[in-house]
This record gives sequence, C-alpha cells and structure tokens, in this order.
Amino acid sequence: MTHTPYPQSYYAASANPTPARPELLGEVQTDVCIIGAGYTGLSTALFLLEHGFKVVILEAAKVGFGASGRNGGQIVNSYSRDIDSIERSVSPKNAQLLGDMAFEGGSIIRERVKKYGIQCDLKDGGVFAALTAKQMTHLESQKRLWERYGHTQLELLDAKRIREVAATDNYIGGMLDMSGGHIHPLNLALGEATAVESLGGMIYEQSPAIRIERTAAPVVHTPQGHVKAKFVVVAGNAYLGNLLPELAAKSMPCGTQVITTERLSDELAKSLLPQDYCVEDCNYLLDYYRLSGDKRLIFGGGVVYGARDPANIEAIIRPKMLKTFPQLKNVKIDYAWTGNFLLTLSRLPQVGRLGHNIYYSQGCSGHGVTYTHVAGKVLAEALRGQAERFDAFAELPHYPFPGGQVFRVPFTALGAWYYSLRDKLGV
Ligand SMILES: Cc1cc2nc3c(=O)[nH]c(=O)nc-3n(C[C@H](O)[C@H](O)[C@H](O)COP(=O)(O)OP(=O)(O)OC[C@H]3O[C@@H](n4cnc5c(N)ncnc54)[C@H](O)[C@@H]3O)c2cc1C
Repeated sequence: MTHTPYPQSYYAASANPTPARPELLGEVQTDVCIIGAGYTGLSTALFLLEHGFKVVILEAAKVGFGASGRNGGQIVNSYSRDIDSIERSVSPKNAQLLGDMAFEGGSIIRERVKKYGIQCDLKDGGVFAALTAKQMTHLESQKRLWERYGHTQLELLDAKRIREVAATDNYIGGMLDMSGGHIHPLNLALGEATAVESLGGMIYEQSPAIRIERTAAPVVHTPQGHVKAKFVVVAGNAYLGNLLPELAAKSMPCGTQVITTERLSDELAKSLLPQDYCVEDCNYLLDYYRLSGDKRLIFGGGVVYGARDPANIEAIIRPKMLKTFPQLKNVKIDYAWTGNFLLTLSRLPQVGRLGHNIYYSQGCSGHGVTYTHVAGKVLAEALRGQAERFDAFAELPHYPFPGGQVFRVPFTALGAWYYSLRDKLGV
C-alpha cells in the first residue's frame, strides 16, 4: 500500500486528532462515488447524505491533502472574477442566480461549523486592501455591484481605518466584509469528514481513482478495489492529473506558497492585526495574511504556473511579509509549504457533466474556500433533480488554454507578468 502523508505545514502540525481511514479493498456499491476529499467533495457528500443518499468518497492521499488543507484560510466571498464579467458571459437569469450565490459559501461554512461542532478557529471579518487609487476605485465599484445583488454588509475603509486593521503603511484604503473571515482550513476539512462519517458516508484514504468505466452504471477503479455507483462526482481539482483528459485540457494547476511565523507575543500579534481580521491585497498576484488561533502570522502569496515546487519558499515569501510588516524582521519562520490551485482561462469555475452520470466542479482559480462549499450544494441539488443553479454555473464558458499542454505555462506566465507590471505601475 502506498502512503502519501500531509505536507509539513503548520496546519498538519496543529491538526485535530483524526482516525486513520481505510484503503478501499474489493468491491463497494453506493449511490454516489465522489473522487477527492477536499471541500468540494466533502461539501457535496454532506449535502447528499443529509438528503438520504449513500455516498462513498475516494481520496488519493488523506482528507484535506490538497488545497483545502493548505490554503490561507481566508473566507473570501464571491468568485475569482467578479459578477460584472459573469453578467457578460451568461443570460440575465443565470447572472442573477450566480450573483445571489456569491456570498452563500461563507454562510454554509458557518452553518457546518455550528451544526457539527467543528473546531477550526473560525473568526469573522475579511478585508480587501487597496495599494493604489485605481484599486480603491475598483473596490468602490465592486461594493456597488455586490449591493445590486443584495450583499449590503460591506464597508469601505479610508486610509486611517485600514491602518487600524493592519499595522502597515502600504494601503490607501480597503473594504471590510464581516461575512468573510478565517478558519484553520485543515481542521475545517477534518471536521467535515467526521460529519460525513456521522451520517453514514464512507471515506477511503490512500485510494486514488485510477480509471472510470464510463457506462450507464459507472465503476471507479482504485489500485485495490472498485466502486459501483449510480453517479460519480469528480472533485480532484488541481490534483486530479489526467484522469479525465477533457477536464485537464481546460485548466492548469498552479502553485502558491504560504509561510507561518513562530508564535508571536500577544502584544505583537495584536499590534499587527488588532481586530484579528484576515487581509488580502488587490494585486493580480496578491498577498494574503492573517493570525492563526495560536497567534502566528500566516502569510501567503506568489504563484508558480504549472505547479512546480520552489526550492526555497521562505526566500520567496518572507520578503513580501517584511515589505508589509518590517517590524517582523527578527521573527523566525516555523513552517513553509506550497499547495496547488486550479486556474481556468476565464478565472471562473468550471461546472458540468460528462455523459449523464459524471458531474464535476473545478477551477475556482485561487478563491475557493467559499465557492467549493456552494459547489457542493449545487452539485447535490443537481443529483436530487433540482438543476437550476447547476445550470447557471454550467452556462459559464469553458475555454481550452492557448498553447495546449506544452505552451500554456509560458503563455499564462507572460499574461500574469503583464498584469503584475500594471499593478506595480499603478495603472
Ligand atoms: C496555498 C493555497 C492558498 C489558498 N488560499 C486560499 C484562501 O485563503 N482563500 C480561498 O478562498 N481560497 C484559497 N485557496 C484556494 C482553495 O484552497 C481551493 O480553491 C479549494 O480548497 C479547492 O478545494 P477542492 O476540494 O476543489 O480541491 P482540493 O482541496 O485540492 O482537493 C482535491 C482532493 O482530491 C484528491 N484527488 C485528486 N485526484 C484524485 C484521484 N484520482 N482519486 C482520489 N482522490 C483524488 C486530492 O488528493 C485532494 O485531496 C488557496 C489554495 C492554495 C493552494
């Protein structure tokens, strides 16, 4: 049996105790076989189980092994591209549905945490920080746009207010979303997995799906067993590889890196982020940070197109952290890791169906903590025969990456270089 452990992250080191889960051996029958135990898979499973479905999850490594157990922990609502670009892509009815759903993920997470008693250091309050006048103008128009869809809890922050949120002179203003916030992401995934099992769902770890028989009654094969199901939900995202080539062709795994400081004194932690909100800036290649439950600074940023692991993560991210908080120059970094998210050309998620019984959601392009929770609900609705919101997502266009498998990395890196240069120039 192969054994893929968690990466050496702060989250793995501070994970809540969790039982070892079995590898799939032999044949199992179920209603729905879900591939991947990240938020997409776990959220789908929970909504299905709550409606009486039998569910089996196959996980190649361990629950939350992928982005769901490694991310910045920021509950950022809406999508990686905003509702205005969605409005240009789909019918007015579907734009309305997608706009209505833009802030649903944060509520689903809070409901899950409450209902299943999940211990994941949940805190309210997320801030988008503007580095330039252009970014501030964008936040102002974003607020107006979101308010058109009934999301009225947002508050603009001037230079003085944002200095009270984050002890840095980098920002000229920002926007506070109290329905945003932050969590220990791996503990959220582990808590959701326990909830899945409490409802009778089965999770097999170290059990990669290696082949799908795409027949009227699909069969998903692992090295030592197989699952016969009525439906399959593919939730492998950036870690799926080439299991379904048609999904790989229209998406690209990208790495992003996170560091975690040693524990800070209470005074230092409070001086950096007095309200304990999480912060992300408005650059195309953005920095994001927050305090952990035990008062470390967790700081992420940077993108590696094509998801190669950089040799020295601290050397990439620490300078970004010090540019924001020079007062941390003598603070030690205890953990550094990388994780993969899945980029799409439109930076909007791809939701759909292959044949009539294989469903998928992928490609939230970096902002996925809330989206994946909505996606789980929408996929479960579709399997229950209520496809209106699934169809709204499915209308978003899916494009292949220019350059195919060989040139998509340099082409995309070139595009990102252009946008980050514009950020640097403030144009
Ligand atoms: C470093 C980092 C920081 C991020 N920070 C944020 C943030 O602060 N806020 C935010 O909103 N978003 C953030 N994101 C994005 C967010 O974490 C992801 O969008 C989200 O977690 C994706 O969830 P998922 O379930 O779709 O995929 P994943 O969590 O990646 O889960 C996919 C799972 O499928 C499994 N799998 C793959 N193939 C197979 C197979 N063949 N058989 C069985 N199992 C398989 C994998 O092992 C994995 O466990 C970040 C991402 C990264 C990488």
